[in-house]
Parts: sequence; C-alpha cells; structure tokens
Amino acid sequence: MSTLPPLAGLETAQLDWPTNETGVAGPLSTRFGDVYFSRHDGRAETEHVFLAGNDLPRRFAGWRGGRPFVIGETGFGTGLNMLCAWACFDAHAPPEARLHLVSTERYPLSREDLARALAAWPDLSGRTERLIRQWPEPVAGVHRLWLDERVTLDLHFGDAAERLALLEGRVDAWFLDGFAPSKNPGMWRPELFAALAARSRPGATFATFTCAGVVKRGLAEVGFAWRKVPGIGRKREMLAGEIASPTADARRERTPWFRPPLPRPARHVAVIGAGIAGASVAAALARRGVAVTLVDRFDRAELGTTHLQGVLYVKLAVETNLQSRAYLAGLLHSRRWLANLDPQQVLWQPSGVLQLALSEKEQGRQARFLDNHPLPESVVRGLDAEAASTAAGIRIDTPALDYPGAAWVKPLALCVQLARTPGIGFRRGEVTELVGGETGWTLTLAGGARIEADQVVVATASEAARFSQTSALPLQPVRGQVSQLALPEGAPALGRVVCAGGYVPPPADGVLNFGATFGPGDTDPAEREADHAANLAELERGLPHFVAALRKAGAELSPEKLAARVGVRAASPDKSPYCGPVPDAVAWREDYATLAKDATRVPDVPGRHHQGLWISAAHGSRGLASAPLCAELIASRICDEPLPLEWPLVDHLHPGRRIIRDLIQGKPVP
Ligand code: SAM
Repeated sequence: MSTLPPLAGLETAQLDWPTNETGVAGPLSTRFGDVYFSRHDGRAETEHVFLAGNDLPRRFAGWRGGRPFVIGETGFGTGLNMLCAWACFDAHAPPEARLHLVSTERYPLSREDLARALAAWPDLSGRTERLIRQWPEPVAGVHRLWLDERVTLDLHFGDAAERLALLEGRVDAWFLDGFAPSKNPGMWRPELFAALAARSRPGATFATFTCAGVVKRGLAEVGFAWRKVPGIGRKREMLAGEIASPTADARRERTPWFRPPLPRPARHVAVIGAGIAGASVAAALARRGVAVTLVDRFDRAELGTTHLQGVLYVKLAVETNLQSRAYLAGLLHSRRWLANLDPQQVLWQPSGVLQLALSEKEQGRQARFLDNHPLPESVVRGLDAEAASTAAGIRIDTPALDYPGAAWVKPLALCVQLARTPGIGFRRGEVTELVGGETGWTLTLAGGARIEADQVVVATASEAARFSQTSALPLQPVRGQVSQLALPEGAPALGRVVCAGGYVPPPADGVLNFGATFGPGDTDPAEREADHAANLAELERGLPHFVAALRKAGAELSPEKLAARVGVRAASPDKSPYCGPVPDAVAWREDYATLAKDATRVPDVPGRHHQGLWISAAHGSRGLASAPLCAELIASRICDEPLPLEWPLVDHLHPGRRIIRDLIQGKPVP
C-alpha cells in the first residue's frame, strides 16, 4: 500500500501566456518559471530533440505487427511531443503497426489551457481534438485514451518517478522532458533514473534537451550510455543514448506467484461469454487486430426490447484500499470508454449518480470518505438535501454523495454493439470443455463441435466453475431481480440515478427500472412477487416524494403490476473481480505449500498458469465500472503492451489471490 500515492485530485498547471518577439503567445508555467515549448519553434524542437533524437522515423518505418512500439515520456505538458510522435508514426509506420504512448504528468493542464496551447498547431487539430475530448479528470492514476485505431495513450497522472515505478510495462524510446533540472530538481532525481532503467526494453533509447550534469550522471549510474549530439536553435547540444541491459524487475520478489506469464502468440482468441465482461474483452482484442471468436449460448442480438438499464457506479471505502482504487479507476475509465464508443449517447446517459445517506451512520461515513479523499468535485462531491434535491429534480430529505460523471447504460444493447466490432465472429453454442495443448486450446461445444484458438478468455460469470481450470476460483452466484414499471403520462422525471439500498435510474422509454434484490447463492430465474415488494419498499424508503408523485400521476405501484428482469451476478469472496491469467491451482498449492507453515518463507518460484487462459469474472453488480477496464488489462497483457493500471492493482485483481490467502490461513484444500 505504501507504494501507492494518495487517491486524490491533483493541482492543475498554473500558466501565463507571454508573447514572443513576433507577438505569438505561448504557455509558461508560473510554478516552474519555464516554458512548455520553445517560443521560437516548438515543433522543430520536438521533432529534432525527441523524434530524431530517438531515431523514430526510421524505427517506425521498420516496425511490424505484434506488440506496439512504446514511447515513454516524463512531463506530458501540452502533449505536443506525443501528438508529433503520433503524426510521425502515421507518416512512417506500416499499416499493421501500432503505437503505445505512456506519459507522466504531475500538474495536468486544464482542458481550456490545453486547447489554447495546442491551437498554435492547426495542422494537428484533428489529433488535438481527440486528445481534448478524452482529457481526463485531474486525478492521480492511469488514464487510458484511444487516440485512433492504432494509437493508445496512457496518461499516468502524478510524479514521474512515482508513476514510472508503478508502471506495468516496458518502453522502447524515452522522451525525457520536464522543465530544466535547474528549475525542476525534484523531478530529475535518482528514483526517476532508476525507474527509467527498470521500465526499459533492452536497447531502449532516450533523448533529452538538457545536458545537465545531474542528468548525465543519473542516467549513467543506472546503465544508460549517453552522448552529446547537436541541439537546435539556441541549444547547441542535447543528450541521446540507450540502455543495453535494463534493470530486472524485482517488484514481485515477495509475491512470485503474481509474476506475469511470458507473452505467447495470439492470432486467434476465443472469448467465452458475451455479457459485458466477454463482449468488452472481445472488442478490446479485435481493436488490436486479433481475430476473435465470441461464444455464448444465447445471442443477445435476438432479444427483443428489454428496457433494462444498468448503472455505472461505485461504492468506495471510507479508508482508501486497493479495491476502491481499482473501482474508481474503472469508473473513470468506463465513462471515457462509453463516450468514445457511443458519442451520440444512444446506449447510455451521463446522468450522474446520487448515493443517499439515509442514516446518520451513513452520513458520517460519507463525510469521512470526503475528508480522506480530496477528489475533484467533478468526480465526487457531498451534497446537502437541498442540493441533492436540485440535482435529482425531486425532493430528497437526506444528504448524498454525488458522482456527476457516473451514468446509466443499456447493457444488452451495449453488448450487442460490442459484439459487432469488426474482427469478432459470434458463435452460438455452449462450451462444455476446455483442453489446453502445447500451442493453443480446443473448446468443445455441446453437440460436439470444436473451436481451436491460440488463447481463451473465460467470461462466464459464476459458470466459470464448470471448467476444470477455473473451478478452483471461488465464485458465488447472486440472484438479482429488477422491477419494471410502465409509467403513465405526466409521471415525474428523475435527473440522476439514485442509489440507497438499491438503485433507480431516470426512466427510459417510458419505463422505470428499480431494484435490484440481492440473493447470494440463488440462481432461480423465475420472477418473484416478494422481490417486487422488496424493491417497492426500498424505492419508497429512499425516494418517498418521488413515489408519492408517481402515485399521484396514476402509476400502479403494486407487485402484481410490475414486470421483472432476473439476472445472476457472480461475486468473489473479497468482492473484487478476477482479472488476469488463470493460475494452475494444483501447482500453486504445491509450489507455495510452505506458506501454510510460515508465510514469510516465500519460495522463489514464478506462478505457474494455464498458459494462454484468462478470466474476467466476479464483477458482481458493478460490472459496468470494472469489466471495460479489466478487458483492456487482459487485452494489453495478451498483446504485450503496457497495462492501464498500477502494478499493485493488477496484482489485487489477480485471479490467484485467494489461493495464496487460503494457503497462508491454513485453509483446507477444497
Ligand atoms: N512534453 C511537453 C509538451 O509536449 O508540451 C512539455 C513538457 S513541459 C516542458 C514540463 C512538464 O513536466 C510540465 O507539464 C510539468 O507539469 C511536468 N512536470 C514537472 N515536474 C514533474 C514531475 N515531477 N513529474 C511529472 N511531471 C512533471
């Protein structure tokens, strides 16, 4: 935990806009007293120092398919370097090549300042627009942006040295930007150089505008060879170089079971389960050029209108923990992902979510949560009853937490759209068996048909238990019934999703969804009147004035008048998803048996996995917040690219975590 900086908002950049001798204004940081780019010719400087300094035009031209070329940067600033790298990639790289950009930023620009700074480069306007549209909230953490079909940008907000130490991934070329060492000594410190060496691929290059001694010494100490090369403009010299032998990754010495399996070919991947977990992983892989067969026993596209609404929301712990971090990252990720996928907002609505504090205990909990987490108000804020009423458009008697960026979603239509991503073949069928071989997997369907694939992702919620390889992962089915009420003319509106015990989104297409019940261990698909009654009682408890207004408008709020949607979610014992490679449970129990006697005796044995088998499951009732990020995580792992989460969070989601915990606690093998 100590490795992760606080879960908090970041200060944004403080800018001034002085003009140069030709009257052109450019951004200057008042905090550092330095410019973001040369006011004489910022573009030429970027192209000379960072692109040519890393020999990128030539390297891009020779880059083939497979994993993406990875650029790492300290100091994203206005993004000029990264936008120019993207343009250079488009100009030189072959069509099948992909580019992955990783950049750290301690003081992100506001969206307005970003737009103003980048307006200086009209020929980059298409790229600028894609960046600004997805520009993240200033929250510490990793924010993944999809710049185009071939280019991904991971913004790691926070201090460069801290963020690179948390990065799960390695880099081919570094842009060492950030203000001059004399103006920003806090960034150019030994920890930064150590992180650069530990996150480099063998042969990774670097380039930087500065020739300061602290930089030369720092780089040399960790194994980078540097040389002075001609600079540009008033800077006569700059540094470039490379690292032959990057530092080995020592981060999992105490947790060798979490060492990731080596990458293996993934031309064709089978994904089992076409719900949100499977459909999002299928789409993430297809976008990377992987052929995907998506298998499910029923075809969601054949369903009629269901009016079902799901809610993109999270419940965060009062004290920061890994689960809360992962879920908040997931919420922010899903929001950006939905906006990208469906800018017209046909499949979702960014309504925001209110979490009511119906008891004094809950009010205290919310207040402590806000004290512990200084996050931007655009992410989460506390509202009194009056402000909550204004936000919801209906009288509310209690304070609430407001997540303005949360949303509701049409989950079935979303899955159908994802399954239609080019590169995905849908196959209707029930997979009964998985058999792994030397180079790939054979899936047997009921009826005997077979599918061969290089790798497989299991995304079948609690039914993962049916496959021998995933059956060791504890998963509990949890039945949930949503009630649906057809609204009469003149029924009241609702401006936010409102959650208390259950949730109620703003009505869509004349139907109000509310629920859901929570039935651990229950898989019964039949509608129950008692569940409708429970949902009605919960609705009345949270929103009595809304219910009164519904009655007044003539709504028939009685169990026998309601329709139902029944689903079965899956939960892990610790309520975090399982996302990652599937452990070989038998091998883990053998390899790590000593932990049962002494948890400090950690055998130096990397975790053995079912090679090429992955799982995304246990998303519970918050799958809209967790599944899309888990999909990116798995696709990034399969395609050998940097991950969109800090490594301690990647480990927190590892499907094998319970096996280790059970061993340490001396639990008998199930
Ligand atoms: N690469 C940028 C561009 O293309 O516009 C220009 C970078 S500007 C010269 C330096 C950037 O480094 C600023 O945005 C500043 O906030 C950021 N920075 C300063 N100290 C940092 C630190 N310790 N960690 C991460 N970023 C830092």
